[in-house]
Amino acid sequence: MPAGVSAEVKTYKLYVNGDWLEGDSRKTFPVYDPSTEDVIAQVPDSNSKDVDRAVAAAKAAFEDGPWAITTPQERGRTLFRLAEKIRQNVPMLAELECRNTGKPIVEAEFDINDVATCFEYYGGLATKILGYVNPVPDNAVSLTLKEPVGVAGQIIPWNYPLLMAAWKLAPALAAGCTCVLKPAEQTPLTALEMANWFSEIGLPAGVVNIVTGFGETCGAPLVKHPDVNKIAFTGSAQVGKIIVKQAAESVKRVTLELGGKSPNIFFADADFEAAIDGALFGVFINQGEVCSAGSRILVQKPIYKKFVDAMTEKARNIKLGPPLERETKMGPLVSKDQYERVRSYQDLGKKEGKVAIGGGRAEKFAKGYYVEPTIFYDVENSARIAREEIFGPVASVIPFDDEKDALKIANDSPYGLAAAVWTRDIFKAFRVVKALRAGIVWVNHMQPTYVEAPWGGYKQSGFGRELGPWGIEEYLETKQVHINLNEQPIGWY
Ligand code: NAP
Ligand code: MG
Repeated sequence: MPAGVSAEVKTYKLYVNGDWLEGDSRKTFPVYDPSTEDVIAQVPDSNSKDVDRAVAAAKAAFEDGPWAITTPQERGRTLFRLAEKIRQNVPMLAELECRNTGKPIVEAEFDINDVATCFEYYGGLATKILGYVNPVPDNAVSLTLKEPVGVAGQIIPWNYPLLMAAWKLAPALAAGCTCVLKPAEQTPLTALEMANWFSEIGLPAGVVNIVTGFGETCGAPLVKHPDVNKIAFTGSAQVGKIIVKQAAESVKRVTLELGGKSPNIFFADADFEAAIDGALFGVFINQGEVCSAGSRILVQKPIYKKFVDAMTEKARNIKLGPPLERETKMGPLVSKDQYERVRSYQDLGKKEGKVAIGGGRAEKFAKGYYVEPTIFYDVENSARIAREEIFGPVASVIPFDDEKDALKIANDSPYGLAAAVWTRDIFKAFRVVKALRAGIVWVNHMQPTYVEAPWGGYKQSGFGRELGPWGIEEYLETKQVHINLNEQPIGWY
């Protein structure tokens, strides 16, 4: 056994047309546990031929297969059965997600329960896709029908692996689409495990296909494929831009959930204790590997010094540890690449701001991609650490004078995913909510996310919305139908 390979290395296959297949190239790549740096699995390195096979299966299942004639009621019941399976297997899935991502086990359990909730929600919504009767000025019935968009290509990141898969698969399946899912190269395991139940719950072959692989060799062929009708992408703005260009060739529908540099704004009249908790939770949950992380902490000057001191003091108690230990509040970063990226921003932050706490590797761990929770203060909003998405536990604290100043700083970002505002003044809260250019705004909280409410960004954080009825809309086409009720010829000629 090569060094660094643990005993239970499982080799996975591709899930295509209801079968487990070898990849065309027969090549596989390793998947790691970031807390030990051990290889925990091997997965196929899929290429464009594998993507072709998966898309052909999805196309056949959409056009000729049973999915096209499945009733919304049956689609809904299939999603409920999948949700049930997931609920029964929370311990197994949470442990695997935890080992593969490094996220604390308690958070992984929340994630997997949210996965089940997402399938349940869209299982219910499958039977509530409504059309319209259009009030046209003629003796006719004019209808608006909603129909599935077809084959959906779905490309997801590594921070919430199975949850991101659920946000994509659940609305697509409820709408009647068929899917080809490409998980992130780092974290494909829980989606593959879930596929084990697809035939048992009655999902016909070809309706969901999973191809594991790399962005350029597996993701890009999916984006370019002429038989894929829609691409749903969650990931970085950098890759999002490439995807829009490539999808333009075949005029595909595209939705993008990209990154952020979200402001978390604290006015002097906020509940101080709640605010400190909210600032830490906003930026350190999931090791800061969160698209909506409150990584710019804007604090009003009268409480600024006290705030930085209190945050720093409380951050000392954040328990870093092995992800499987229940007391752990922060695990390692997901990969060596991500670790190096975050470390470079920690070094940059020492030049661009002052260190309140952290700034390096968490040295008490001999192995694993652990970094210290890091807070920089006196940061200018023009600094790179305040403009670029770090995607790790690194906060920039920025002082402000008044409401106008806070809004100017908050909106001065290429991103617009999320924001939060903390104050006891309801009038001020609403003024700020309305003026913030962001797709999600929390008041006196940061991060709660519900399948019932829309998720997505303004500006370079992307376009389109996931979750709620908005999420299913992105998988639906709109068809106008005109039924003439005049029994005579038009009489024009
Ligand atoms: P990423 O590098 O952009 O990758 C995302 C996915 O795209 C991966 O599956 C990746 O494959 C694939 N990909 C890469 N290049 C591609 C190409 N040329 N064509 C097609 N697919 C390609 O992002 P990440 O590092 O996995 O995740 C972190 C980013 O995701 C952050 O920017 C974060 O803000 C964002 N995110 C946003 C949300 C949201 O809801 N807005 C949620 C979570 C994460 P590989 O795995 O091989 O790279
Ligand atoms: Mg990547």
